[in-house]
Amino acid sequence: MTKEKNEMKNGSLTARRGVILLLLIAVVAFGACIGRIAYLTIIKGDEYREKAEAQQLSVTTVNAARGTIYDRNMNILAQSASVWMVYINPSKVTDDNRDRVLTVLSENLQMDRAALAERIAANSGLNYLKIKGEVEYNEKKALQDAVYDEKLTAVIFVDPDTKRYYPNASLASTILGFTGTDGNGLYGIEYLYDEVLTGTNGRIVTAKDGVQFELENAYEVTYDAKQGTSLQLTIDSEIQTILENALADALEENKAKNVYGIVMDTKTGALLAVANLPDYDPNDPYGVLYPQLEEYFSENGTENQKADPVAAARIEQWKNKSIADFYYPGSVYKVFLVSGAMEEGVIDENTQYVCYGRITIGDRTIKDFNPTGHGLETPCTLLVNSCNTFAVNVGQKMGVDLYYKYFQSFGFAEKTNVDLSGESAPAVGVTYHDPDVSFTWSDLASASFGQSISVTPLQVVTAVSAIGNGGRLMQPYVVERQLDFQGNIVSVTEPKVKRQVISEKTAATVAGWMEQVVSDGTGKNAYVAGYRVAGKTGTSEKLGTSDTAYIGSFAGFAPVNDPRISVVIIVDEPRGANYSGGVIAAPVAGEVIERTLQYLGVEPSYSGDEIASMTIAAPSLTGIPLAEAREKLQDYDYTVKVVGDGENVVSQSPEAGRYTPVNGVIVLYTQQNAEKEKTTVPDFTGMTVYQANKLAVNSQLNIRIAGSSADETSVIAYKQDPEAGTEVESGSIVTVTFRTTSGVHD
Ligand SMILES: [Zn+2]
Repeated sequence: MTKEKNEMKNGSLTARRGVILLLLIAVVAFGACIGRIAYLTIIKGDEYREKAEAQQLSVTTVNAARGTIYDRNMNILAQSASVWMVYINPSKVTDDNRDRVLTVLSENLQMDRAALAERIAANSGLNYLKIKGEVEYNEKKALQDAVYDEKLTAVIFVDPDTKRYYPNASLASTILGFTGTDGNGLYGIEYLYDEVLTGTNGRIVTAKDGVQFELENAYEVTYDAKQGTSLQLTIDSEIQTILENALADALEENKAKNVYGIVMDTKTGALLAVANLPDYDPNDPYGVLYPQLEEYFSENGTENQKADPVAAARIEQWKNKSIADFYYPGSVYKVFLVSGAMEEGVIDENTQYVCYGRITIGDRTIKDFNPTGHGLETPCTLLVNSCNTFAVNVGQKMGVDLYYKYFQSFGFAEKTNVDLSGESAPAVGVTYHDPDVSFTWSDLASASFGQSISVTPLQVVTAVSAIGNGGRLMQPYVVERQLDFQGNIVSVTEPKVKRQVISEKTAATVAGWMEQVVSDGTGKNAYVAGYRVAGKTGTSEKLGTSDTAYIGSFAGFAPVNDPRISVVIIVDEPRGANYSGGVIAAPVAGEVIERTLQYLGVEPSYSGDEIASMTIAAPSLTGIPLAEAREKLQDYDYTVKVVGDGENVVSQSPEAGRYTPVNGVIVLYTQQNAEKEKTTVPDFTGMTVYQANKLAVNSQLNIRIAGSSADETSVIAYKQDPEAGTEVESGSIVTVTFRTTSGVHD
């Protein structure tokens, strides 16, 4: 900047300060009355424009751009774009210009001419009437040209405005929330961080006469807009997509009312993904995205909900149920019970118990899922078998006070205080028993296996993370950093340890048992080859519903030796063939864990058994004589198909380096431009691994086995990609997902 310009700038600044001073003196001189009008003008803007004009003081608002919301990799999740708002001065509409006004507005804004005429006539006494908001640039430009050509600049006006866009539609919608027509946040992050995102509108205060022409001795004061602060979330769009895709399948397959899930960084409490389905598109929050929600409320709602199922569906789809809804955790709670009992020395690794399938507390008999009993057990098998009677026995040994101590320290008696809006607060006597007033031995028995106490999914994933994190309970959070409009860091969230709930030793012991739940117990559908997963299943009966309804869930973390992620999956009111957490929630968790760890680049490490059913990178056979290729393939167990009668291999399917089953199919082409062999993907549903493998080879396809332990004889295929009937190139890879329905109830 040159010296001259500097002086000019300084000069204008001095002049501006002088004007501000003058204005202040004027306000003081005219007293509180004028001050009040100035305040109303500045704060209320348009509404008081008329009054301002009467005082010959005009205030133009300069909108501050609302901050952008990014995911943790700086992908945009919510952004404001410039749009325009069109308004007129109805008192300036005369018999002379009325036709032109109506033509210009109706033609350029695609509005109904008759309706416009009616509105303008009805408001003819006003100086200000909003015609249309959220007008895009091209439309606004055309309108302005027409206004100029038709000499209507004293009648039709355009003001800058902003519109909120969510480029990923429904992705993470229940976290993000949305804004209202006036641009303020109504739900989610948009609501909780409204003040931070909004910034401060600037204003230009100008003295004008009553017809909006600046006075000759006019003064003008500009207050710059302070742009809104942007937020960088801990949410990762990739992991969010992985979670939402898995949940969408679970919602459909189980005909569930809701499904929710959370993926958390085990060690920091950062939320990597939070999803609740059915959800909505924040670009159109009043549209109901899932018609079944509307159907649900018209059939099962309260009288009010039945009367207006659309309104009920909207409220439901906007709600972040993973922090707002309480549910009985069922057997998932056993890991917290056992952790507390171990920590207090009530039990140890060698404690023995004989399960006969039932236990009597006072006049009440509690049954196991297994009516014949689990026999001789240890705390490890309590979790692996999800034994109710042993859990009740441990609870009774602990007593109310010790039980409650760990209920509280694992975080179930308090809000997590996550920085999201809509978290429900636990209430003593409502969501949990008051240990001083009404916690009976019978209550304690139910509470020991997770009935009669209510928790939120976020509380569960936070508590289970404490076991994976050496006993440290973290404060969950979703805003990583706040950034100013130039990208400078305003604030950073540091991970916060709330407290040490159990010792590192107890945590490691319980984590080891939770790994056995997944490798050998009710959690085996969450098993992922190559990664050590720890977890616990839960199935609970829902109260307050007209007929019997269940919640199936799974909570866990992986890899056990160095946990990166914790996951909770909840299937609420499944109406399909299955309802237990081990069958309907564990496979969803397994899928989310596998894909997330792969995405995070966590190196898998396969056991001996796993290697047998593993995939290998297809060897490179292209560009060599066919005979040589055949020789190379002798080391493999592939079924080889040769297409063409050339001497050299010119292409192959699968391509070199693609992971294929060790006993898969490989197609070799020996002629340039030979037509690719095609095959139709068969239906693998209901098959065992052996049957699926055989059918794949017969169909000249390779299958990638996903889901539960492949060596189990009881696992059957229940999902595949691509779908049956799809035509693909021979040698292609089809992902088939397996699970078991035996031994996984609870
Ligand atoms: Zn048992």
